[in-house]
Amino acid sequence: MSRTVLVLLNQPSLDAPPHEVGADAIRLVDPSLPHLSVLDLAATRGDGIFESVSVARGKAHAVEAHLRRLAHSAAILDLPGPDLDVWRAAIETVIAELDPVPEALIKAVMTRGIEGDNRPTGWVYVSPSPDYADARANGIRVVMLDRGYRHDVERTSPWLLAGAKTLSYAVNRAVLREASRRDADDVIFVSSDGYVLEGPTASVLFRRGNSLLTPGTGLGILDGTTQGDIFAWAAENGFETGFEQLTPAELGEADAVWLVSSGRQAAPVREIDGEPHAVDASLTSEINAYLMSRDN
Ligand code: PLP
Repeated sequence: MSRTVLVLLNQPSLDAPPHEVGADAIRLVDPSLPHLSVLDLAATRGDGIFESVSVARGKAHAVEAHLRRLAHSAAILDLPGPDLDVWRAAIETVIAELDPVPEALIKAVMTRGIEGDNRPTGWVYVSPSPDYADARANGIRVVMLDRGYRHDVERTSPWLLAGAKTLSYAVNRAVLREASRRDADDVIFVSSDGYVLEGPTASVLFRRGNSLLTPGTGLGILDGTTQGDIFAWAAENGFETGFEQLTPAELGEADAVWLVSSGRQAAPVREIDGEPHAVDASLTSEINAYLMSRDN
């Protein structure tokens, strides 16, 4: 029996026609069967957007923030606006059909569809998560890699789609192979003009004294839903929170650094470019306990 649950959306956007007039909005299908055309622009050009939403104890995390980011990514790519009600319902459907597992990950994908067809393709699936216990408890080793773009490309060069969560993640996978060649687990991207950006699948969070900080928005990086929730929790628990554009050297001086994301949640960084970095184990546990207990 497959432990993946998959639904297809008949009309991912109200700004484009449905795939089948009068059909159900959401159709539960067998994930072991083919459903995507080889002509879909997702397959031929990586032209589409996605969201990964974590699930713990049957509850999906930060759904509204993920839906907002899906709509934001669609706008950056000039895709028709996703019908957020149907995407929300698709997320609820896959969770309802999922066998009980401690943690799972939902993927919501919208593509530009088949070239010339003008109907986006949309699907949502959920699968049990890999075991992240080691990264959360023992930390990760990261290397800083040049992303090759200035920190301000989002403003100067919007066609680069910086800040959108696009399907074109081949680079985000290539850097992990480079990390592995350098005996590390993950990556923190640095802009070509020397500012800390984000990981290939995570936001950077750091602590300086009583402040929890992140490099911020407008740097061609994603607005992290996990970072957003951590800031809300931190503000209620006596921390200052804020955004700070900083250099790798300044990050190296932070009291603690994490990569935070849906799925793995908060992974403390224990080594940067081969140099040991202090880990705040008790704050990591508190943050992860909060993240895993989220009800929405
Ligand atoms: N930055 C990038 C490039 C990502 O791919 C992700 C998540 O996949 C994040 C940041 C973190 O976002 P979130 O916390 O919403 O998962």
